[in-house]
Amino acid sequence: MRLLGVLGGMSWESTLSYYRLLNEGVRDARGGLHSAPLLLHSVDFAGIAALQKSGGWDEAGRQLAAAAQGLERAGAGALLLATNTMHKVAPAIEAAVDIPLLHIGDGVGTALKAQGCERAALLGTRFTMQEDFYRQRLGERFGIRVQVPDAAAMVEIDRVIFQELCLGRFLPEARDFYLAQLQQLKDEGAQAAILGCTEIGLLLDGCDSPLPLVDSTEEHVRMGLDWLLAGG
Ligand code: GLU
Repeated sequence: MRLLGVLGGMSWESTLSYYRLLNEGVRDARGGLHSAPLLLHSVDFAGIAALQKSGGWDEAGRQLAAAAQGLERAGAGALLLATNTMHKVAPAIEAAVDIPLLHIGDGVGTALKAQGCERAALLGTRFTMQEDFYRQRLGERFGIRVQVPDAAAMVEIDRVIFQELCLGRFLPEARDFYLAQLQQLKDEGAQAAILGCTEIGLLLDGCDSPLPLVDSTEEHVRMGLDWLLAGG
């Protein structure tokens, strides 16, 4: 099988999901004792989160590009950057390596398209919800219009991600708040919801959602599995 590189630790709570889902996917496809051939570079998220906050995206891009080069040198044939937010610096990573970066937005866009969705609600960090790098890709490549919560709700969704989910705290109040936002976005015309932060699936696991959910973690893992298993 091919060897897949994972740039993770952002946060490690969701990197655990990637690790489990990639291995379960290979086991289910190949059976027996088969598991996913992976290289993981898991960063110290405190430094990356501080750079996000201070606007140090170029430096964050340099650090992740260096980590990606390390994975390439070690033999990885493709990369998963296991966070939506840090795809803001995907171009810097892509420029630094000769192997493909399997873009999380493409996994999400493909899943939405398969459902026939044209208007999707997006929950994620404030960077993912407010900036262009994610929404534009969904619009330009997949023709999907993205709807986000109002400004005050975005602040709370972002706070929950960094102060709770990335620390492994999954509280009922946060779950209720997220579900209420999905109901609101449905009322405003959304046909499905993107869990555009790799920890949100952990919060909403098993919930009755008002909208069909497209979990970025699951769709990204699917891309990784397709790549791994295509190698024979
Ligand atoms: N894992 C999250 C995401 O998918 C948030 C952490 C980060 O800022 O990278 O965006």
